[in-house]
Amino acid sequence: MSKTWDAVIIGGGAAGLFCAGVAGQLGKTVLVLDHAKVLGEKIRISGGGRCNFTNLHSGPSNFLSLNPHFVKSALARYSSNDFIKLVQTYRIAYHEKHQGQLFCDDSAKQIIEMLLNECAKGKVQIRHPVVIHSISYESGQWLIQTDSGHHQSKSLVMATGGLPVPAIGASAFALDIAKQFGLKLVDPRPALVPLSFTSHEYESFNTLAGLSLPVRIAAGSKGSGYGACHFDEDLLLTHKGLSGPAVLQASSYWVEGQAIQINWLGAGKENSQLNCDDVFNHVDNRLKLVENILALMIPLRLAKAFAEQQNLLGRKWAEVSKKERQALQELLTSWSVKPAGTLGWKKAEVMLGGVDTKELDGQTMMSRKHPGLYFIGECVDVTGHLGGHNFQWAWSSGFACAQAL
Ligand SMILES: Cc1cc2nc3c(=O)[nH]c(=O)nc-3n(C[C@H](O)[C@H](O)[C@H](O)COP(=O)(O)OP(=O)(O)OC[C@H]3O[C@@H](n4cnc5c(N)ncnc54)[C@H](O)[C@@H]3O)c2cc1C
Repeated sequence: MSKTWDAVIIGGGAAGLFCAGVAGQLGKTVLVLDHAKVLGEKIRISGGGRCNFTNLHSGPSNFLSLNPHFVKSALARYSSNDFIKLVQTYRIAYHEKHQGQLFCDDSAKQIIEMLLNECAKGKVQIRHPVVIHSISYESGQWLIQTDSGHHQSKSLVMATGGLPVPAIGASAFALDIAKQFGLKLVDPRPALVPLSFTSHEYESFNTLAGLSLPVRIAAGSKGSGYGACHFDEDLLLTHKGLSGPAVLQASSYWVEGQAIQINWLGAGKENSQLNCDDVFNHVDNRLKLVENILALMIPLRLAKAFAEQQNLLGRKWAEVSKKERQALQELLTSWSVKPAGTLGWKKAEVMLGGVDTKELDGQTMMSRKHPGLYFIGECVDVTGHLGGHNFQWAWSSGFACAQAL
């Protein structure tokens, strides 16, 4: 056994590297261990290679957690503005894309380089690829046994992320360590993930793959799981089901067995009904075909699919009964459908659930049961909305932890 580190951080991804850099620069001796050959792979592939590294409006309401208050302290202590200032000191050019989402102009690799540079400034040691065989706690110290030797440390920080994209090294290691030390978990499941349907439910849409349109989507229910949501975003029809930002956002709130609701007209329901009434009752529209009437409000391909589904394709509007009009209005403004499932960990951007926040101190990310054991980033039961919030959680939780080490 050689030196005792102030902190060993397991996982050199967004949260781990950021935490290491901050702690190192505060004078702590820090060792990062990661099993990956290449560090920061999730950052590299994020945001289509440009890394949506934070969101101008990132706040507690952008996060799902069984305890919605848990994120408040960490977000207040290290906000999106703080991270933006860091990005600016590295002269990384960035732009706002949509609803406060900030992306690098050039490449996500700039964020990885920045994190590694911050680690170097803090004299952080990084070792990878390393296989960790076991972790134990003896006589007030953490003992980490690896395929390249043993390490001992005063504090242990688990930053191994969540289960999405196993092909680039995701593992349940943080959750296993939490279990080993008696911490409760919230069942993990894929989030920010496309939804799939049975062939029967999706029959009318199979031919519409590639079609994208703005919708209002609602999922979840008040008082259960992570609550209810609605989002006004774009929806994408695919061969397998529904995707696009609207569906990814809704997937985090969706509970298996429940339906999601889609308003294909996009705006709030009241406005949509007014729009529908206007179009349906306009005297000039009486001799038009049903699909052409619907196409005044939604793309023609979708209009045809709805008309066909209701056996109204090719019929004149004047021939459509009141009941049939009502059914069409219902279809347009509150289409309710039960997804069969999600496309799973391979396609999910993030993990819902993880280490139960009741087990952690929100100011430091330290285990309440086991002083000296910390969990940061995605392995905690905190999941951001789409749009840079998940990285913001990695930075904020990493910062809170670094101050406490
Ligand atoms: C395709 C995709 C795109 C995304 N785009 C965005 C985006 O644009 N904006 C956004 O905010 N979020 C985005 N996310 C989510 C974001 O990448 C994660 O929330 C974030 O990386 C979590 O940080 P983390 O440090 O907790 O975990 P990670 O960044 O995943 O890091 C975990 C690290 O732990 C290591 N590790 C895992 N298991 C072990 C083990 N057993 N032993 C040792 N090391 C281990 C891994 O190799 C990895 O280096 C995206 C995710 C995906 C999959």
